[in-house]
Amino acid sequence: MDSNIKEIIKGYSNFQSVKFKKNEERYKNLVDEGQNPKALFIGCSDSRVVPDLITGSNPGDLFIARNIGNFVAPFNPKQDYHATASAIEYAVSVLEVSDIIICGHSQCGAIAALYKEIKPTDENIHTIKWLELGGNAKKTALLAYRGKPQEEILRYTEKVSIIFQLENLLTYPAVKRRVDKGELFLHGWYYDIKEGTIEYYNDESYEFKKLIEKTGD
Ligand SMILES: [Zn+2]
Repeated sequence: MDSNIKEIIKGYSNFQSVKFKKNEERYKNLVDEGQNPKALFIGCSDSRVVPDLITGSNPGDLFIARNIGNFVAPFNPKQDYHATASAIEYAVSVLEVSDIIICGHSQCGAIAALYKEIKPTDENIHTIKWLELGGNAKKTALLAYRGKPQEEILRYTEKVSIIFQLENLLTYPAVKRRVDKGELFLHGWYYDIKEGTIEYYNDESYEFKKLIEKTGD
């Protein structure tokens, strides 16, 4: 397999000579002012889901934690080396963000993997463990959608998993305290790759609704 690094460096070269040059002042201010992001964005590592792109964000706007499946492991102080938990703590307790967005997406490989028999090897052992965090979503989807076409089951699992991850967020004392005080707001989003649209979870009507009416409709 050929390396893609040349193409990636070409992109950097373009960033330096065009985009950075154009916004030099703004980038310098980012250093002077420090970071004061608008939200913590927890998204999937999937290369097709680009948080800054789909929210039109600029450097400094979003504090981002991405992982396979946009999962949030429940609070567990005994667990070591936990990247997402650490990002949550830093964003909430130190940066004091006002909002946390958990963004799932269509055609998620992590969700699809929940339905595959995967043999543990030394090449996937961490992934298999991590995918346990989608177990409740899978269980719920099979209870509600058994016998339905696989694609429908997958789309449902992707969405219902977001709700379970929101619940897991509330197991973090720092999150729960601020949510109860009305200082922190949690959002569940679902990004459709093919449509470029986002739906949000409405926790009063228990359904996903369009975040905004699609432009041009
Ligand atoms: Zn994904």
